[in-house]
Amino acid sequence: PSAPAVVETVTRTTCPYCGVGCGVIATVDEGGSVSVKGDPDHPANFGRLCSKGSALAETLSLDDRLLHPEVGGIRASWDEALDLVAGKFAETIREHGPDSVAFYGSGQFLTEDYYVANKLMKGFIGSGNIDTNSRLCMASSVAGHKRAFGSDTVPGTYTDLEAADLVVLVGSNLAWCHPVVFQRIAAAKDKRPDMKVVTVDPRRTATSEIADLHLSIAPGGDVALFNGLLVHLTRAGAVDSAYVADHTVGLTEALNVAAGRSADLEADTGLSRADLDAFFDLFAGTEKVVTVYSQGVNQSVTGTDKVNAIINCHLLTGRIGREGMGPFSITGQPNAMGGREVGGLANQLAAHMDIGNPDDHDRVGRFWQAPALAHEPGLKAVDLFKAVADGSVKAVWIMATNPVDSLPNADEVARALELCPFVVVTEVMKQTDATKYADVLLPALGWGEKDGTVTNSERRVSRQRAFLDAPGEARGDWWILTEVACRMGFASAFAYERPADVFREHAALSGFENEGNRDFDLSGLVDIDDKAFDEMLPVQWPFRAGEPTAQASEDKRFFSAGRFYTPDRKARFIPTEVKPLALDAGFDMLLNTGRVRDQWHTMTRTGKAARLTSHIAEPFAELNPVDADRLGILPAGLVEVTSRYGRAVVRALVTERQRKGSVFVPMHWTGQNSAKGRIDAVVAPPTDPISGQPGLKATAVNTRPYAAR
Ligand code: SF4
Repeated sequence: PSAPAVVETVTRTTCPYCGVGCGVIATVDEGGSVSVKGDPDHPANFGRLCSKGSALAETLSLDDRLLHPEVGGIRASWDEALDLVAGKFAETIREHGPDSVAFYGSGQFLTEDYYVANKLMKGFIGSGNIDTNSRLCMASSVAGHKRAFGSDTVPGTYTDLEAADLVVLVGSNLAWCHPVVFQRIAAAKDKRPDMKVVTVDPRRTATSEIADLHLSIAPGGDVALFNGLLVHLTRAGAVDSAYVADHTVGLTEALNVAAGRSADLEADTGLSRADLDAFFDLFAGTEKVVTVYSQGVNQSVTGTDKVNAIINCHLLTGRIGREGMGPFSITGQPNAMGGREVGGLANQLAAHMDIGNPDDHDRVGRFWQAPALAHEPGLKAVDLFKAVADGSVKAVWIMATNPVDSLPNADEVARALELCPFVVVTEVMKQTDATKYADVLLPALGWGEKDGTVTNSERRVSRQRAFLDAPGEARGDWWILTEVACRMGFASAFAYERPADVFREHAALSGFENEGNRDFDLSGLVDIDDKAFDEMLPVQWPFRAGEPTAQASEDKRFFSAGRFYTPDRKARFIPTEVKPLALDAGFDMLLNTGRVRDQWHTMTRTGKAARLTSHIAEPFAELNPVDADRLGILPAGLVEVTSRYGRAVVRALVTERQRKGSVFVPMHWTGQNSAKGRIDAVVAPPTDPISGQPGLKATAVNTRPYAAR
């Protein structure tokens, strides 16, 4: 007899971690072992992977996986669990109205999951109370884009970052948080030694190692910096007057506001005159400039103004919509962009339409045939859990995220869930800090098991494909939501049998009565059949019906004709006032939180790979030697970081890289993997009044040597 054929499967898919959205080739050998490598044909990474992506195969064990539904901690059948969820939500809505229930989702969702969740809550339950952990990621960029462009549009592409002669990185440790984009910029800089990089960050990070100029800005100084730049560009004759006249509105007021505090620029930014001049001259004298910004900008109580202060400078110089130019918001999560497409935030409708716009409301209502479509925005993340705490939300469903660790004032979120009459958690892991509050636990598929699409920071839609069998009874989020929708009486509107069904509807809605008045458009894929969906190559939107099939590597840039999505098609300058940060009385430092290189979020996956954990094994508080001396803190000694809200104990990392008066603590360690407290229990809850994004990077704290009590 002939030898059995070797069965090896090779699957092209997408990395589930950051918003770069790298293509991955996953191979399962005949023994079931998985290996991964970068996809050389994927236009996000051209074969590159960072440490996290290349360790994906080491994170696939089923240890600690949630494999069966549970009700009250006891294994249950899917029918029992789904009937209970649908029944309790329906009963709560009957007794207390649609706004008494809420969903809290995730940038880890696939677009199809996100779409079904939003359709169910906004369209059929009739409440806007669905928000997402993407609120913590890029809500300020969304709000800033909408104010300036009339649409939530990232204008450029990754190739613009390589083509620029000056890349300004603001509040972005790209080398650790978006490593493959960082590698692309570094490689471009190696090839073109005249290319310049400026980093703007209170910390000197791995990213600043390639910088020609590092600005160690005072926390919260970004609006002042870009207002100062706006004034300088005007005085230096760097204004593109024709562009401003033809394509923008509102310069005079923005400039007046910016000029009003020019005298305080050094104090507001904490930067020397020499550093300010060097940056301003470089920006003024370079035509091809891209300004990349990330969580240091977004995660702020003035985040939206920071975004607009940056965009103002690009509008003034006409440096937008052209190769190598433009503001570029880079998203943290793998599918934050896909979430925006389906209206994943509480103040949005699907397909980049607005919940408060009567025409949009009518359009989405007719498309979905949803008579109950919510009229009002729902509760944004921080407010949503406040409403759980005060009892106005009585049933909450948390999916693919862990707010007990990631939201600010996180002990209060735990207390809210403890008080909530009905908590559902959909998870891949059995034990997280959130699952212990669940009345019903529903097992979800993880990476390698689930199937659908994600959209990266440059608007490129890629497939995540399943190459592993579903473990236990785990199911896709779209399926779980669909089953609950059907049990709530909405079966005809949720007749999905596979992710491709959801994707086709999503693409159809994007083109529905879209006469070029909305930026998001995937109607070129509305007729995609199941086979073509299986084989779909990465595609950047917009991809409109009737356009020729886009090549996977084709780049599409917005605003090249200077036409925006405001009623008069002109972009808006937004006046941005400087609002200096104030320390709470009794506290003497500002706490900044963020990622480390080799961990993702709460480490439920990356924590399984020994080589990733060997990079940094425990949480730390990074502070300047001057502060350490002043406070009697020894290198590697334990310190207690305390705010009005909570405390955490971590090890001191004393380094000149940190700015005086600031302390940085990574966000990954949770109640499950650190005995000394979660840093988000320390973080203050105030949010940006426009975007609702919390200020995760500037909490007033004391940092003191730890004394065991
Ligand atoms: Fe994954 Fe981001 Fe690393 Fe790419 S850069 S491999 S998307 S974590």
